[in-house]
Amino acid sequence: MQHYLNYIDGQWRDASRQLTVMNPGTGEPYATIAQASIEDADSAMAAARRCAESGALSDVRPAQRTSWMLKAADAIRAIADQGGLVACRENGKSLNDARDEFLEAARYFEYYAGMADKIEGISVPLGKDYMDFTQYVPFGVSVQIVPWNFPVSICARSLAPALAAGNAVVIKSPEISPLAMTLLVQAIEQAGFPKGAVNLLCGKGSEVGSHLVRHQDTNQIVFTGSVPTGQRILRDAAERATPSVMELGGKSAAIALSDVNLDTLLASVKVGIFFNAGQVCSAMSRLLVQRDRYEEVKAAVVALAESLTIGQGEANPDLTPVVSQDQQQRVLAMIEQARAEGANILAGGAAPDLSGYFVAPTVIEATPEMTIAREEVFGPVLVIMPFDSEDDAVALANGTDFGLVAGVFGEGLSQTLRIANRLRGGQVFINEWFAGGIETPFGGVGLSGFGREKGQEAIYSYVQTRNIGIRLSQG
Ligand code: NAD
Repeated sequence: MQHYLNYIDGQWRDASRQLTVMNPGTGEPYATIAQASIEDADSAMAAARRCAESGALSDVRPAQRTSWMLKAADAIRAIADQGGLVACRENGKSLNDARDEFLEAARYFEYYAGMADKIEGISVPLGKDYMDFTQYVPFGVSVQIVPWNFPVSICARSLAPALAAGNAVVIKSPEISPLAMTLLVQAIEQAGFPKGAVNLLCGKGSEVGSHLVRHQDTNQIVFTGSVPTGQRILRDAAERATPSVMELGGKSAAIALSDVNLDTLLASVKVGIFFNAGQVCSAMSRLLVQRDRYEEVKAAVVALAESLTIGQGEANPDLTPVVSQDQQQRVLAMIEQARAEGANILAGGAAPDLSGYFVAPTVIEATPEMTIAREEVFGPVLVIMPFDSEDDAVALANGTDFGLVAGVFGEGLSQTLRIANRLRGGQVFINEWFAGGIETPFGGVGLSGFGREKGQEAIYSYVQTRNIGIRLSQG
């Protein structure tokens, strides 16, 4: 089995302990990785602090950072096939999607390379005796904690703007799926960033992750993961009032109106809830259908779920395994609870007879108060329910504690926009789930978190404003 290392202060380092990474497609061990200790975390933090204090990253001409980032983008793109295979095997996701994660990571570096030299302040008029202007300055050391569902692209999503803005970064990879991230960092290493600008640690969240969050040298925290962990980190961050970006979970709803185009909707359902086995924070986990089309849409969605090919990631099927046995058991337990609460399992609802951690594509008819309709499953499970009026649809869609994304499917521009304006969430899709890209700001409200990633706006999540006020005479 191949053994992977941590990257600290410009060196690849082993550790006395190691973690075993499983292949979810086979249920077999795939590789091992050095398990970072508290001392490793302290070394990484010290390296990042030295880099931040030296100005080697923050004080250079911004175009220099652009140049490093463009080189990193090329190097990441060059290893997309190799890295994609590792991501596929350690995570279970399809080979195509795994490769796409590297291509997306390269795009993040390209996109924010173009912003490194455009983080411009303003001048503030204060009358003839004063001059006043603002500057955007990096935080210093950014600690970034990454989940397992899209480790490569989510890592790049935060790392690229942080570096573009001049922050040194310590990344904590997820215990479950950390390997492809080491390939990502190997590629970034080739770009020539100053020593200590990027550090990568794989360790336990409750140990190394928690230590990084509470560390005195941490100037900013970027967390992507579950709500309970986010809440825990926020409590820890409060000790030092450390600024944080929180990208948490969701229970996002699509609203299908009477005049929905069925093919358009089904294409979005397929990607919305079954892509990456539903392990997507912005998954379409609820489908609300106007009553006059409900039976027709329900039958079509069940037929879609039953038609999907299921298999290991390397075969690029429609549905891949979930990431771990624990995750599989968690998803199946939530389906059982739904059954016990009286929900109607229309499709799937069990593990298919395959080795590996699979959950069959599942469609559940539920009522709004049921647990399955309110809590994030993070698996290939769609909840479907009818609604009568526009007001009902909006109340149902907004009726959870989350607010990450939402969608509206229908013909009329004024009606779809009118509904979109009333939906709680950082992104609203009309007639295509996931419409948007790395260029469009993304983030949540409510329990889905706060702060924005992606788009030009995200660069401002990685800087603080400093105002310089000057009186023009000493008299
Ligand atoms: P998780 O919260 O279990 O773990 C996320 C990361 O936090 C891991 O690296 C883990 O090691 C670390 N961690 C755990 N405890 C910690 C602590 N006390 N201090 C510091 N770090 C700690 O989440 P997960 O299971 O890896 O990911 C799934 C969740 O992530 C889902 O809820 C999903 O919705 C959410 N998610 C959100 C987004 C988004 O952008 N909004 C994207 C992807 C995933």
